[in-house]
Amino acid sequence: MKPLSNRTEHLSDSCIRRMTRIAMECGAINLSQGFPDFDPPKAIMDRLAEVASAGPHQYTPTWGAQNYRAALAGKLSRFMGLPIDPDENVLATVGSTEAMMAALMAVTDPGDRVAVFSPFFENYEAQSLLLGCEPVYVPLVPPENSFDPNELEDVFRQGCKAMIVCNPSNPNGKVFSREELQCIAGLAIRYDVYIIMDEVYEHIIYAPYVHTYMASLPGMWERTISCSSLSKTYSVTGWRLGYIVACKRILDNCKKTHDFLTVCAPSPLQEAVIAGLEMPDSYYKELQAHYTHMKELFCGGLRQIGFDFIEPQGSYFVLVDIAKYAGGDDVAFCERLAREIGVAAVPGSTFYKEDVRHLARFHYAKKDETLLAALDRLSDIHKLL
Ligand code: GLN
Repeated sequence: MKPLSNRTEHLSDSCIRRMTRIAMECGAINLSQGFPDFDPPKAIMDRLAEVASAGPHQYTPTWGAQNYRAALAGKLSRFMGLPIDPDENVLATVGSTEAMMAALMAVTDPGDRVAVFSPFFENYEAQSLLLGCEPVYVPLVPPENSFDPNELEDVFRQGCKAMIVCNPSNPNGKVFSREELQCIAGLAIRYDVYIIMDEVYEHIIYAPYVHTYMASLPGMWERTISCSSLSKTYSVTGWRLGYIVACKRILDNCKKTHDFLTVCAPSPLQEAVIAGLEMPDSYYKELQAHYTHMKELFCGGLRQIGFDFIEPQGSYFVLVDIAKYAGGDDVAFCERLAREIGVAAVPGSTFYKEDVRHLARFHYAKKDETLLAALDRLSDIHKLL
């Protein structure tokens, strides 16, 4: 038989999702794939119950239901400080995963280079490769997770069509400062590079850090494709509701790819989540306070056990140094951690271009009781020595 496609033959599955399967298989507490084990806000669930009988149950217009896009545009205009037009600037997608793919397809052709910071969320590399693009990497160097502007400029100078930036960053919890974003923006304008932002953790950020929207920086509206989702902000990861915000020129092309990829996002869920989009600013303050609590509980516990890590500034992930247990094999370590200690994490190497094998990523979007149980199990980590 003829070979299957090159693009799929050489692609490996997601290590994050593989760890979830291992966690389910062995009953480990799943701190690998990031999703909450607590409920979405009650207002959203109540609305979902109404929608179950009242509908809608059929397709929405491809770009998203009119009232959903209007609610999104209202919330986005408020937070981004930009006048977002629901018809021209907002596209409802199936999760930010589809948003990122539609964005990449709208600005790249096969053979184009796409820059990403390393460490990176593994979808960026896989999606770039699926589209026949060549990912090129710029390291984020601990302890500040800072990048060298000269190195970024070299990558742009050598010819780069787009760059993907995750802010707040998965997996290392970095929040890019306004100055860092301005540096990326200045180079993007100078070398004519599109910037694809993944901002799904925009509301999960720890004081004194604040989120700056790349699209709001001078000269960046025309070349920034802002991808985000409702998954994390409203604790509905399974609803697969994402979106793209961009200028009309770019968004019109994203609309075409989205049309043929998925037609539309689930209509009852678009309707129900409007209850979240209409919530006042106090909701986002409470969300931040809740995540700050979870971070302090989990990171405080890790510290007590004796783990080393860089304190997250945003997102709900922490990269933990597991060098002394892993013996250079973080993948085998994470498998043993799940099966023998009962806690699932993601091997750090899946996020790095460089040969990094001494880290494991844990997420802490979990109830107190889940985090305390995980910490209790992790206190037996010496058994893996
Ligand atoms: N962003 C989450 C993570 O990194 C979930 C990823 C996913 O499976 N879409 O774990």
